[in-house]
Amino acid sequence: MKSEKEKQLQKLQGEIAATKLPLAESNLVFGEGNPDCAVLFIGEAPGLTEDQQKRPFVGRAGQLLNKCIEEIGWKRADVYITNIVKRRPPDNRDPLPEEIEAYKPYLTRQIEIINPRVIATLGRFSMNYFLPFAKISRDQGKPFEKDGRIIYPMFHPAAALRGTTVMDQFKETFKKLPEVIANAKELSSNVVLPDEPIQRPTKPQKSLF
Ligand code: URA
Repeated sequence: MKSEKEKQLQKLQGEIAATKLPLAESNLVFGEGNPDCAVLFIGEAPGLTEDQQKRPFVGRAGQLLNKCIEEIGWKRADVYITNIVKRRPPDNRDPLPEEIEAYKPYLTRQIEIINPRVIATLGRFSMNYFLPFAKISRDQGKPFEKDGRIIYPMFHPAAALRGTTVMDQFKETFKKLPEVIANAKELSSNVVLPDEPIQRPTKPQKSLF
């Protein structure tokens, strides 16, 4: 039987499918996983393989993501995975600001339904969606507190596949994820923090660094 969250997500997916939104020539890649997850991974936009299979992170970057998930003792089915833009931009170009904006109300609702304590952003676009002032090479691997959740910026796995330094940092950052989640348990999901012009790492994370 479907849980309440699954029903709400299914309804939301139906709404997106029935609404005129940018990138309509591509398939809808809504997201998948366990809606009761401890961490929600959010990437940028689907690529070619994702468009073909209508599933997020199923190409090479997705295989690396799966491998890292398994290396910390979890399964892909334990987490939820989605993107800020839910359809593939032509030729895998970067999503445009208006595309990100058009899909924003749907991502907002998807996050509200899943209500995770930790959001792991994959890549610069997803990170800057939540933390407009953050810089990926400076801030990846630092947990930030925002609107009662922890935002944990990570490099995009596709960037990790392009260079060994980024790959090493991506893997290190991934290994810290269980501890970031454990620390986030203290966070009340009702707390709404004001936006801050300069995002700062959350307080005592000494054990992480
Ligand atoms: N890159 C992304 O950002 N998302 C996907 O789903 C696949 C590749």
